[in-house]
Amino acid sequence: MVSFKELGLVNTREMFAKAIKGGYAIPAFNFNNMEQLQAIIKASAETKSPVILQVSKGARNYANQTLLRYMAQGAVEYAKELGWEHPQICLHLDHGDSFELCKSCVDFGFSSVMIDASALPYEENIALTKKVVDYAHQFDVTVEAELGVLAGVEDEVASEVSHYTKPEEVVDFATRTGCDSLAISIGTSHGAYKFTPEQCTRDPKTGRLVPPPLAFDVLDAVMEQLPGFPIVLHGSSSVPQEYVDMINQYGGKLPDAVGIPEEQLRKASKSAVCKINIDSDSRLAFTAAVRKVFAEKPAEFDPRKYCGPARDLMTELYKHKIINVLGSDGKAE
Ligand SMILES: [Zn+2]
Repeated sequence: MVSFKELGLVNTREMFAKAIKGGYAIPAFNFNNMEQLQAIIKASAETKSPVILQVSKGARNYANQTLLRYMAQGAVEYAKELGWEHPQICLHLDHGDSFELCKSCVDFGFSSVMIDASALPYEENIALTKKVVDYAHQFDVTVEAELGVLAGVEDEVASEVSHYTKPEEVVDFATRTGCDSLAISIGTSHGAYKFTPEQCTRDPKTGRLVPPPLAFDVLDAVMEQLPGFPIVLHGSSSVPQEYVDMINQYGGKLPDAVGIPEEQLRKASKSAVCKINIDSDSRLAFTAAVRKVFAEKPAEFDPRKYCGPARDLMTELYKHKIINVLGSDGKAE
């Protein structure tokens, strides 16, 4: 048993309380490799933003849970080396799908876990979530739960259709489970193809797809039911068209990839939404930078020469999200 506190990590409790009060949101960035982690920590340290490092099931399969946890521990030390005196870094399990998995992460030093039982019938979702909460809270580890279903594909989490969260269920759910935060479904979606062309309109000037707006009425109704309760948005990449264009320009093929417009996320950040999950945007930045090097310097074979530029572009992306979208800069001096 390792306590996250020994590793210099923090849970989400205070982070979220401050974010709701201050009208901003905490970035939750997924990581699978060293360059991504370096970029996240550098961006957070330079902007003094609290940050949530997320580990998904796909990441654990790809990079190994043990290695990822030690990398997060190393990230705290790296942050201090960068001059961030009191780093606020949370290590979070993204989309935990069983009690055993959540328990293993709690025991192993994670400071926060998500139990995603949203695909189960309502009563079973409550029972499993409560079981995880009861265990995690003994060690002061915070728990995120989910109500409603997001469309899209994220590693091994996939659903074709979305079901908006039912605001009439949230009080009962939060009370009976004791969860610390709640992921809701209001039209965000996993992956780089969040909407089909049929769901969108097309901007006549640019020819780009314009996605349908988020269901802010559902968010408002949830906040009315649960005033001041931390709300989480998954699948909130914006799929920056500059990266999509770079990828396509240098031999990639991502037609009609479309995400959530940043102004909608900016609006959500000012509400009780206090955690916004961003993964696909970083994948796009990484791929765009690597493709550019490969296209322009075909003789290059040193991974540092293409992973380095990828890291730089991701750092720039993370800083942009922190400063211009979530507003979390300067909140963790
Ligand atoms: Zn998710």
